[in-house]
Amino acid sequence: MKQGEYPAQYAFGISYTSMTVEPPRYLPWLVKQVQAKGVQILRVQVDSLRAALDHVPEAKAIINCSGIGARYLKDVHDEAVFPERGQTCVIRTTFKKMIIRSGAEYTYLIPRPASGILVLGGINEPFNMSPEPNPASREMFKQRAYKICPELGPPEQMEFVKDIIGVRSTRKGGYRLERQENGRVPIIHSYGYNGGGYQASMGAAREVVRLLRGEDC
Ligand SMILES: Cc1cc2nc3c(=O)[nH]c(=O)nc-3n(C[C@H](O)[C@H](O)[C@H](O)COP(=O)(O)OP(=O)(O)OC[C@H]3O[C@@H](n4cnc5c(N)ncnc54)[C@H](O)[C@@H]3O)c2cc1C
Repeated sequence: MKQGEYPAQYAFGISYTSMTVEPPRYLPWLVKQVQAKGVQILRVQVDSLRAALDHVPEAKAIINCSGIGARYLKDVHDEAVFPERGQTCVIRTTFKKMIIRSGAEYTYLIPRPASGILVLGGINEPFNMSPEPNPASREMFKQRAYKICPELGPPEQMEFVKDIIGVRSTRKGGYRLERQENGRVPIIHSYGYNGGGYQASMGAAREVVRLLRGEDC
């Protein structure tokens, strides 16, 4: 970007065209897609992958996409996986640009244009599983968003909609995407995508299919 196209206090800026995903719209759509292909969804809490097989004895494979659950499932017990709490603040606005500041004062503004809202973030808190919103974080997101994008108006004038709290499943050394063969059926592990689960999902799903067919990854 040219000087003047980004706030003067920053060293440089990069502009590019991208896309955003709105999980509250995308996930129900995805469920309909797979159900239309005959997938049945069964919700059960299990303490191991083996126990999951008891509910579907005819299964020919297990795809383990258990996220942070991979740390606690008895026959996975992957201690490299750990929770990283995130919190964001949603405001109502017609502003439609995505802005990300990397490095110090990591800040992002991610629009959800179809819903008329903007998601302000963010934060990474290892091993914090609290579902309670932290008001200090909310104020910090608003202040930083205003600093990076004054056209949003000052924090006290932003139309607050809600806080969003979630836990990323982070894995030391990176995600796990591999086939394991030491049981009645093969297991394909696919978890530990940290803050990039949606970005990685389509590619990861293709690799899962290749691994399932026994092709090299
Ligand atoms: C604050 C925040 C910001 C994010 N930002 C981005 C972003 O900018 N870009 C992006 O691409 N992604 C983003 N994500 C998504 C993130 O990347 C994660 O990868 C994603 O949420 C995790 O998806 P997953 O399907 O691997 O795991 P999960 O969504 O955690 O799914 C795991 C599933 O396994 C089930 N499970 C686990 N253990 C058991 C058990 N014992 N018995 C039965 N069921 C079990 C759980 O119930 C759950 O349904 C963000 C997430 C958060 C929280």
